[in-house]
Amino acid sequence: MALERTLSIIKPDAVAKNVIGQIITRFENAGLKVVAARMLQLSRADAERFYAVHAARPFFKDLVDFMVSGPVFVQVLEGEGAIQKNRDLMGATDPKKAEKGTIRADFADSIDANAVHGSDAAETAKVEIAFFFPELSIHTR
Ligand code: UDP
Repeated sequence: MALERTLSIIKPDAVAKNVIGQIITRFENAGLKVVAARMLQLSRADAERFYAVHAARPFFKDLVDFMVSGPVFVQVLEGEGAIQKNRDLMGATDPKKAEKGTIRADFADSIDANAVHGSDAAETAKVEIAFFFPELSIHTR
């Protein structure tokens, strides 16, 4: 398996629940390393650009409203097979369908307030990491 990087966002609902640390612990326990991190408030323009792929979807406005409703905690995770590993730790988009023990099953309330985002493929990971982090702020170790 290749060493990969992926973008993780701890969304406003999970930040508000004060579970940033519990979520990061799951990444670390699974062998993923946090190699960059920052907390920030997305503007509407940022959120619309980040989720541009969903612009035509009926849930787009609600998604943007939710993503700007409070600060988010954004990280680059690095590890063997990091993209799929993070997706497995997150669980299904809808927490009601997420496997027991996944982040969304344990911390998410609904399909829209679903605690975390994770890149879904190598190409999106590259674009999403560049969206938040210049190369010099990433610390491989
Ligand atoms: N989303 C939503 N309603 C839906 C489908 C998706 O609010 O019916 C939101 C949800 O927050 C999800 C995000 O849009 O995390 C992106 O959707 P995607 O299908 O890419 O799911 P993910 O990759 O986050 O599991």
